[in-house]
Amino acid sequence: MYDIIIIGGGPAGLTAGLYGARDKKKTLVIEKSVEGGQITNTNDVENYPGAPGISGIDLAFTIKDQAEKFGCQIVNDDIVEVDLEGKIKKVKGKFDQYEGKVVIIAGGASPRKIGVPGEEDFQGRGVSYCATCDGAFYEGFEVYVVGGGDAAVEEAIYLTNFAKKVHIIHRRDELRASKDLQAKAFKNEKIDFIWNSQVTELKGDKTLKELYIKNNKSGDIEKITKDEPFGVFVFIGYVPETEIYEGKINMKDGYILTDEEMRTNIDGVFAAGDIRVKTVRQLTTAVGDGTIAAINAYKYIEEQEGTLYEGFNE
Ligand code: NAP
Repeated sequence: MYDIIIIGGGPAGLTAGLYGARDKKKTLVIEKSVEGGQITNTNDVENYPGAPGISGIDLAFTIKDQAEKFGCQIVNDDIVEVDLEGKIKKVKGKFDQYEGKVVIIAGGASPRKIGVPGEEDFQGRGVSYCATCDGAFYEGFEVYVVGGGDAAVEEAIYLTNFAKKVHIIHRRDELRASKDLQAKAFKNEKIDFIWNSQVTELKGDKTLKELYIKNNKSGDIEKITKDEPFGVFVFIGYVPETEIYEGKINMKDGYILTDEEMRTNIDGVFAAGDIRVKTVRQLTTAVGDGTIAAINAYKYIEEQEGTLYEGFNE
């Protein structure tokens, strides 16, 4: 029986784990793959205060070590079912079942797929959602990056470390990415842009051989094929990991609704990070959410048990 169960071991979840354990609550973080979540896909974290240029993996493992030092337990499991209504929250994974007084949902989001024929078939064989993981395979070759946000532009810049040319395919003629990133991309001679365009199909045999791009203005479809390997990296946003909470927790557009204290509509259930309804999804805001959720989880448990010290809120 845990005090605090945290579903998701990204920056929000690990930070909540750190705070929960430091407050002497028996705290468990459940992560289904690698601790760190989306930041493990980033090679160079430029905007985390106090740690300029740290890699996403190093940052994630530093937070993880910090949390474990305070006694936070971390397990690998994929949660498939939750029962959150009662005083004791039940969480069922593929490997084990867990019970706790509080649940903090910090499952984040996974990369959005383009949703075109061939995309799934060539995942890992020409199609990637992680430049840090797969960029080195394209040393000396060309790559295509799909998207126009911070992730697409940042990862396109990173991919120039390997690829001889990086083509950014964007559905509009204006990027969504921050002005600073745009400026860096525009002056990088290895990067060019394919504007007003979207991928319609991917074809090949064992590996990706043909990329089809439609011009949204003219409707023309161009087939791109090469005599050498090439890659397609997709960075078109993320989809929240909320399927198991549907019909159980109040949500909006697939994201979990919380108040400013990270409380959901269910007593003792909080949400933190990219999984909740919010306007700014950044590493720094995820860490902030995790902090708020853990402190309010502590408060909730102490209130339930009648042990909250006077002056907690002062
Ligand atoms: P994003 O900001 O939502 O941008 C997604 C991009 O993909 C947009 O340019 C969008 O086009 C395009 N797109 C969406 N659906 C598409 C589709 N079906 N086909 C083709 N293109 C599609 O997502 P993100 O770049 O992953 O960033 C997510 C959040 O993390 C943002 O808040 C971002 O600021 C943050 N982030 C920050 C940093 C940093 O500060 N260094 C780095 C990475 C991410 P439109 O522009 O036309 O909508």
